[in-house]
Amino acid sequence: MRRIIKWALNHLPRTLLQRLAGWMVPLAGLFYRGRRVECPICGSHYRKFLPYGYVTSRPNALCPHCLSLERHRLLWLWLVRETRLLDDCPRLLHIAPEVCLMRHLGRLYAQHPERYVTADLESPLAKLHFDVQQIPLEDGFAEVLLCNHILEHVADDRRAMRELFRVLRPGGWGVILSPVDRTRAATFEDDSITDPDERTRIFGQYDHRRIYGRDYADRLREAGFEVLELDYAAACTPEERRRYALCKDWLYIVRRPAESDLIRKAPASVNRASAAGKAAAEETPAAAPAGKTTAAAEPTAEEAAAARPANAPTPESTAEPASRPARA
Ligand SMILES: [Zn+2]
Repeated sequence: MRRIIKWALNHLPRTLLQRLAGWMVPLAGLFYRGRRVECPICGSHYRKFLPYGYVTSRPNALCPHCLSLERHRLLWLWLVRETRLLDDCPRLLHIAPEVCLMRHLGRLYAQHPERYVTADLESPLAKLHFDVQQIPLEDGFAEVLLCNHILEHVADDRRAMRELFRVLRPGGWGVILSPVDRTRAATFEDDSITDPDERTRIFGQYDHRRIYGRDYADRLREAGFEVLELDYAAACTPEERRRYALCKDWLYIVRRPAESDLIRKAPASVNRASAAGKAAAEETPAAAPAGKTTAAAEPTAEEAAAARPANAPTPESTAEPASRPARA
């Protein structure tokens, strides 16, 4: 099974994989019946999850029912437990929508389908098709943004981050995940490496262009976001980590500062300019960074949420922490 999945990942086009996986993987799940692990997204139980991975196959990773991976289940737990996304249905832009999340979100947004916008470069499952480096949507389009495991693929990731920032409403929040090697201080990238085999060897996947280091969050901050770096798996119990087969990947939760944040934080001279618009946002250093807070020590969800706005000084700006999105 492990070898079949690994071969398919490395040899079949992604669009074909997306079509095939919908019925082939559930079929494989018949051989994994049991109750030892549970998918928090679809609620299915198995003896264990399927193996998954392009280079190194990870055991106990892929849910045969909804195709969730470890990181999807971790993100889902955070969304369900720490945000009001599923209660309020704010306008959500979901880029490169993961099938497991898209199915659920599609159902939850059934009363407001126009508020759930999926987009991808080529996936037939998405409503819109565009390059994330040039998003054909107006400024402030989305109240919430999900964009996971995309930036390591694109040529100009900084441009993509600025585009993501632009289409997020001031005061809006999102989750922008990428594979990050937290043992590495700085991101490694080399545009001269284009051969798929070389990329697999160096970056870990044939279509990856870089390996992010701990400076990943700083790149997001450069684009204007406040960023919370959250070791959310550490906030779950050992039993939850085992039962849901969670990964240790950190969550990167972003927030676009609200206009009121910028005006209050800016010095008087910039304050006047900020009324005129966006320039102030870019020139106000205090406005961009959230504290480099991590929940690595002994985090609880409350601590994590409280830790986010480490340098967000105003009650207004902390009224809607990243983990408590605004009402739609
Ligand atoms: Zn599932």
